[in-house]
Amino acid sequence: MRDTSAMRRRKVAVLGASGTVGQRFIALLAGHPWFELTALTTSDAKAGKRYGDVTPWHFGADMPEGVADMRLEPTRADLDAEICFSALPSDAAEQWEAALAKTGHHVFSNVKTHREDGDVPLLIAEVNPEHAAALEVQRKKRGWSGSIVTNGNCSAITFALAAAPVHRAFGIERVVVTTMQALSGAGYPGVASLDALDNVVPFIGEEEEKMEKETRKFLGEWDGSSFQDAAFAFSAHCNRVSVRDGHTETVTLSLRERPRVDELAAAMREFRGKPQELCLPTAPERPIVVRDERDRPQPVRDRDAGGGMSVVVGRVREDPVLGYKYVVLGHNTIRGAAGASILNAELLVAQGLV
Ligand code: NAP
Repeated sequence: MRDTSAMRRRKVAVLGASGTVGQRFIALLAGHPWFELTALTTSDAKAGKRYGDVTPWHFGADMPEGVADMRLEPTRADLDAEICFSALPSDAAEQWEAALAKTGHHVFSNVKTHREDGDVPLLIAEVNPEHAAALEVQRKKRGWSGSIVTNGNCSAITFALAAAPVHRAFGIERVVVTTMQALSGAGYPGVASLDALDNVVPFIGEEEEKMEKETRKFLGEWDGSSFQDAAFAFSAHCNRVSVRDGHTETVTLSLRERPRVDELAAAMREFRGKPQELCLPTAPERPIVVRDERDRPQPVRDRDAGGGMSVVVGRVREDPVLGYKYVVLGHNTIRGAAGASILNAELLVAQGLV
């Protein structure tokens, strides 16, 4: 194990800094022991402006000290940062993420643009850290010294993190998942208030397809030259609900093995990964918190578990149709976005891969 106590501080940029995920990055990076925020980018319209003047800060606490006075920059390939955390809209990511990797930057992206690329790791630090080996192929093939690593769609991360130990121990065969996704998942200003309040919207563009594809990649394998997707049947219903933060998902699944319900819960409860082993700064002590109360998890009570980095599982029980069912909740802008990216960066830095 590398000694990370004297880690060199690295300059980092947040791309799309004024948006919902960008703000979350800034909040999480405040006081980070290894990363120093040196650049914030935005659309051309806001470039040159003071961050504090043009950002509708979403959190109760004030902006971290020093950030309000930083000047927003246009996104460009010669940014003064080694690591770029991307919270860009997909068209801007298309334009900039590869350009930044080409100029030697290590891009950790929340955007869908490169998630399905055959040489780009789609990483959950606890679940598939071995996929980072694809960076060697990526650098060789694309002829760049930088890198692109993505994290997944917020609902897919929440599902896959809780499902990983279940799949490993008992083999998932079929899954049906129904999501109840928070409004912050749609960015800012997001869903119009008259569509959101007192309502459930049973459609989120591309979400069901992303959940299916990304879950298979997360739980699949890197064979040294390509990703081999996990092979199970997957069906998702995705809904937008009137919750501020935190995606709740009801999961019903069949397994190859026939564990008892307490064994299924124990596999999730006892799960730990590389981030816990390496004591990474953003790693929660327990990636999956399993609760026994009959009415948990709930977004207002459970979304901040482990600083928003733990997913919370409850109501693990038998199901008469597929065999098993449970509820899982994840904080969409922390574990489902900015926190996941920062943890991926910490993992690769600690392993000497970036
Ligand atoms: P958002 O609130 O709409 O923010 C997007 C930000 O990007 C805005 O601040 C916008 O700045 C900025 N921007 C636009 N063009 C830019 C450019 N060329 N260079 C730099 N910045 C630019 O969206 P979001 O929810 O934060 O999502 C950001 C990305 O993360 C999206 O690709 C989304 O799919 C993904 N994601 C979101 C979540 C979530 O829970 N929200 C979860 C996972 C992944 P202006 O204000 O100047 O227009």
